[in-house]
Amino acid sequence: RKSTSRLVVGNWKMNGSLALNQTLLAGLLEKTKATPEKYATVQLAVCPSFPYLAQVQQALSGSSISWGAQDISLYTEGAYTGEVSVGMLMDFACQWAIVGHSERRSYHGETSQQVAEKARLALSQGMTPIVCIGESLEQRQEGNTLAIIEQQLKPVLALGEQLKNIVVAYEPVWAIGTGLTATPEQAQEVHAFIRELLRQQQAPQVQILYGGSVKSANAASLFAMQDIDGALVGGAALDADEFLAIAIA
Ligand code: PEP
Repeated sequence: RKSTSRLVVGNWKMNGSLALNQTLLAGLLEKTKATPEKYATVQLAVCPSFPYLAQVQQALSGSSISWGAQDISLYTEGAYTGEVSVGMLMDFACQWAIVGHSERRSYHGETSQQVAEKARLALSQGMTPIVCIGESLEQRQEGNTLAIIEQQLKPVLALGEQLKNIVVAYEPVWAIGTGLTATPEQAQEVHAFIRELLRQQQAPQVQILYGGSVKSANAASLFAMQDIDGALVGGAALDADEFLAIAIA
């Protein structure tokens, strides 16, 4: 299974500006072009805020780095002020859409059912959803981690034939932006469980990313685990050198 290609995605969250992005993108391009062999076995992607997708598209077109959105609307068009549809994102050649990030779930009340619907919508238009799931600290301490994971993934597992085309990101909420990382063993336990749930739906090949304070110093030990196929990176994705060091790990 370790032959599965690796994927490292940068979630820029609500950070950046035209000027800052330009510097970051130039750094990513310069280094990946200088030593392409170092990145031969890893797919790289970045997810900026919506207004910067055109900038990112222009900078990265023709490069080995792809791009995506941090969220998508549940709806395809119409009277949904402030929302951005999958079709609009396809106009900017987005390959990926993060759906169900814990910040969307907690600040915007997104449910697992809605997250699965977003994944279905993305897939229907040829975009790959990166479906985020993860338990809170309280849920972990109460011993409910695997039950929560199964509950969050359940509507997604019902996607049917298209399930094999998603990416899953396991992001323990207590590890996001906190500097606390799950140990490789803690992460692997959950990844193996997710793998088994996917296997039961004939989709064992789905890439399962880990997210939560990944940095170059801890990436290699996480990536060494059997069922960790890459990372969704927040804070460390805002620095080109650090992001690429994670990719190389
Ligand atoms: C994230 O929000 O997807 C994330 C993993 O953030 P960080 O790397 O900053 O913990």
